[in-house]
Amino acid sequence: MRYGALSDALEKRGLDAYWCTDPSNRRYLSGFTGSAGALLIHPSLRKLFTDSRYTAQAKNEAQGFEIVECEGGETASKVAVACRDLGVRRLGFEEDRVPVSGHRRMQELLGPDVELVWAGDILSSMRSVKTPDEIERLREASAAADEAFYQICGVVEPGMREQDVALEIDCLLRKKCGATAFDTIAASGPNSALPHAKPGGRRLQAGDALVLDFGAACGGYCSDFTRTIFIGAIDKALRSVYNVVRNAQEAALSGIRAGMACRDADALARNVVIEAGYGGCFGHGLGHGVGLDVHEAPRVSPAADGVLEEGMVITVEPGVYIEGTGGVRIEDLCVVREDRLEILTRATRDIIIID
Ligand code: ZN
Ligand code: ZN
Repeated sequence: MRYGALSDALEKRGLDAYWCTDPSNRRYLSGFTGSAGALLIHPSLRKLFTDSRYTAQAKNEAQGFEIVECEGGETASKVAVACRDLGVRRLGFEEDRVPVSGHRRMQELLGPDVELVWAGDILSSMRSVKTPDEIERLREASAAADEAFYQICGVVEPGMREQDVALEIDCLLRKKCGATAFDTIAASGPNSALPHAKPGGRRLQAGDALVLDFGAACGGYCSDFTRTIFIGAIDKALRSVYNVVRNAQEAALSGIRAGMACRDADALARNVVIEAGYGGCFGHGLGHGVGLDVHEAPRVSPAADGVLEEGMVITVEPGVYIEGTGGVRIEDLCVVREDRLEILTRATRDIIIID
């Protein structure tokens, strides 16, 4: 089915073949999980170019592909030779993934008669709509995050450093799924006002908000989860911020459905935040697609162009951040359905205060 959809897209754009270098696209199309290699997809053949570290693995994983072993630095020239043999004139490639130097080299190898054409959106749009099988893996990754959250709530205590909280979470996720989806965020006190804080040596103290943002990767598929908990006590101001964020998330969770413009989905939550007077404190988009990559299409933000489709998997993660004081973010992973959002995250959204 993937090749059918890809062939249709290539034909529609007048592309003779597709040169794939993005690791997640490579895995999506071929099943190959190695860290190096390129694919060439043409209506008459599928080739996977990789080096000797990976040829045995590639033969196992990439069913239906001819494996071409390349010495270091030889991949591009072998792809170019294959293109020449096939008479390729217009070659689609991933413009966000190929460095300027790689593009120049490939153009030199292909010669002036072959055009390199931007085609990165083909795979990102294919990947944005998940199959039932992919949704099952995302559900599994999400369940691992839920479980890690309940367990970490039993471990966190005043005096613990952020980096130790993050390490504990990573252990829980890796025991469950083998891998984390991204670098875990454990941001306490004033650091919780930084949406992408790096866990450091700060020790948890009474009155802190603690933003925990993490995910597992199950069979390559990521989860993305955030809860904000409180240490010892909750400040009055932070309690009201929490309620605003929770209400904003609730508005989005209950209102989003297939067919909705991504920016309208964002507005469902953002309007609640704005009406509560925190409009300037929600600097990021409401959410993003999640799959083999933790950030992928679609984007759900005020500037996004897309429309939500049945089977897309997105996060819903409003946040309010008050510099110097603290922040609150609540993030759930959801499947877009025709008439609603199916929420994969199960953890409670009630306020949790750790004594
Ligand atoms: Zn997250
Ligand atoms: Zn996220």
